[in-house]
Amino acid sequence: MTDFDVTDRNRLMRYPKRGAYDSETIYPILDEALVCHVSFAIDGQPFIIPTIHARQGDRVLIHGLKGGRMLEHIEAGNQIALAVTLVDGLVCARTAFNHSMNFRSAVIYGSGTVITEPAEKLEALRCLTERVVPGRWPHVRAPNDKEMKATTIIAIAIEQASAKVRRGPPGDDGIDLEFPVWAGVIPLPVIPQAPETDPKQTAGYPIPDYIAAYKRSAD
Ligand SMILES: Cc1cc2nc3c(=O)[nH]c(=O)nc-3n(C[C@H](O)[C@H](O)[C@H](O)COP(=O)(O)OP(=O)(O)OC[C@H]3O[C@@H](n4cnc5c(N)ncnc54)[C@H](O)[C@@H]3O)c2cc1C
Repeated sequence: MTDFDVTDRNRLMRYPKRGAYDSETIYPILDEALVCHVSFAIDGQPFIIPTIHARQGDRVLIHGLKGGRMLEHIEAGNQIALAVTLVDGLVCARTAFNHSMNFRSAVIYGSGTVITEPAEKLEALRCLTERVVPGRWPHVRAPNDKEMKATTIIAIAIEQASAKVRRGPPGDDGIDLEFPVWAGVIPLPVIPQAPETDPKQTAGYPIPDYIAAYKRSAD
């Protein structure tokens, strides 16, 4: 387990009891999220870009076509922040003020390096592919030289991180508990639907077990 340093950059000021700074809390959130948002500033202008990520140990991999602004900015050694958010439920309070969401979110900070060594780059691509659909990599065509050259992969070392987690019922109290309206939580699990076969598929390949059994979270 890693306990990340806590400084003004990652210390939660609002509802600090909901915060955590350890890899045991933060990594499962990073791993369950399918999408991250990478933020960076260029000449005082903030940008934010949604993209696929995969955690590999204590670093986060992102990739894209060579020449993208975000990747070039990270390649130049600049700091970024990256956030992921999982919404677990909608919290319906008795008061408008206390409406909320149950969530698990994580923010990481760090700077990146480009992965150029071919074996490491291939392993990073495997990691990203397996992140999208676990079990897929051994069954698909591996990237060829042209595809490898066209792809930039960046590893962001996690320097600092924070998580924030809200669970449970609405936060109403006092006289508001008697307000005559239903209150509670609408759970929002992510449940995959039946896979849809590509209409361009020419042979009747059966749906692989790892596709049929796909689940959003590891548990
Ligand atoms: C689904 C969802 C809905 C939310 N809705 C609202 C809303 O409607 N209004 C609202 O005010 N807030 C909401 N929040 C909480 C919000 O993310 C911030 O935590 C909060 O607004 C405090 O912001 P701040 O800049 O004052 O944070 P500060 O507490 O000053 O942030 C300091 C540091 O704490 C860490 N941190 C802060 N928030 C998070 C987080 N969510 N996850 C991980 N690390 C964090 C970061 O490293 C940050 O730099 C929501 C969060 C989620 C995930």
